[in-house]
Amino acid sequence: MNRVDYLRISLVDRCNFRCLYCMPEGTDLNFLHRSEILSGEELLSLLRQVFIPLGFTRIRLTGGEPLVRSDVVEIVREIARLPEVQDLAMTTNGYFLADKAEELYKAGLRRINISLDSLIMETFDRAIGNKGRSCWQQVWQGIQVAHRVGFDPLKLNVVVIPGVNDAEVTDLAALSIDRNWHIRFIEFMPVGNFQLFAKRGWIPSEQLQQRIRERWGLTTGCVRGNGPADVFQIPGAKGTLGFISQMSECFCDRCNRMRLSADGWLRPCLLNETGQLDLKTELRAGVPMVQLRDRVRELLLLKPEINYQGRDFSNIGATYSRTMSQIGG
Ligand code: SAM
Ligand code: SF4
Repeated sequence: MNRVDYLRISLVDRCNFRCLYCMPEGTDLNFLHRSEILSGEELLSLLRQVFIPLGFTRIRLTGGEPLVRSDVVEIVREIARLPEVQDLAMTTNGYFLADKAEELYKAGLRRINISLDSLIMETFDRAIGNKGRSCWQQVWQGIQVAHRVGFDPLKLNVVVIPGVNDAEVTDLAALSIDRNWHIRFIEFMPVGNFQLFAKRGWIPSEQLQQRIRERWGLTTGCVRGNGPADVFQIPGAKGTLGFISQMSECFCDRCNRMRLSADGWLRPCLLNETGQLDLKTELRAGVPMVQLRDRVRELLLLKPEINYQGRDFSNIGATYSRTMSQIGG
């Protein structure tokens, strides 16, 4: 059986962006009230007494936008101090990074993924649902600061949407040539914006690889990470290119992760809600940690069966009630 030792924690469901593919303007999201969100202390107790004893040693902080949470640096510091945690990473939209990157690094964060869907200001603002002053420069500056501060590997996430940013795939890939940056192209999933998915569809990674191969050639690459990306490299480039092909490939048999939502739901599979545990309610009701640990252990045993249940994408709009921002994508 696959070893499940990677926990993705959503620190908050809110976000300062409204990405087209995640929570577009007008989506009725019913954001959580502050009191519904696990406090830093609750989160740390769950890590120390439930997840770490069960063998979870790799953690990613995500959201929503993790950097909108005011205690994010303290949370990073406390998790980084746990001797069992071998890897601590974060996924962010980068908007607050110029201010926060140094503090986060000093607190012990070493790996970061920053979303950057376009190099063209107008396209970027369209992708993130911004109608005001462009946010591109602010995010680009955040990426530069994260690089200077020493985050390594530094990964840039691109969700490829046909007709929005797919024409930029080679320009984005070119960022990996002179910089030790790792560009990751993610297939658009029918989660968060079903209408857009139905209208535009998605582009298989294989097609993107072909475009890049025709321009420069591609060799197999390697980069540190916990995910299912297929990693390549433009010959001679300093960085790499990763392709996350959750639509065209099934990597359920390799799945090594669980997700903890900001309101304390533990979810064994991104694509379906079977087996979820409401850890926050139980924790607040005073259920002993040892019992919570037993429930999570049982869920770990069920996970291989649950993994495959969500792959019927034809009906996903009807069965999927949470966006990536709510689950912790
Ligand atoms: N706010 C942070 C960010 O955008 O990087 C972290 C949370 S975001 C939900 C995490 C990841 O989910 C991002 O890399 C985003 O691109 C991805 N994501 C969200 N909705 C998606 C979708 N419908 N298809 C594929 N990826 C998606
Ligand atoms: Fe916010 Fe990230 Fe979702 Fe974009 S993908 S709306 S930045 S949570």
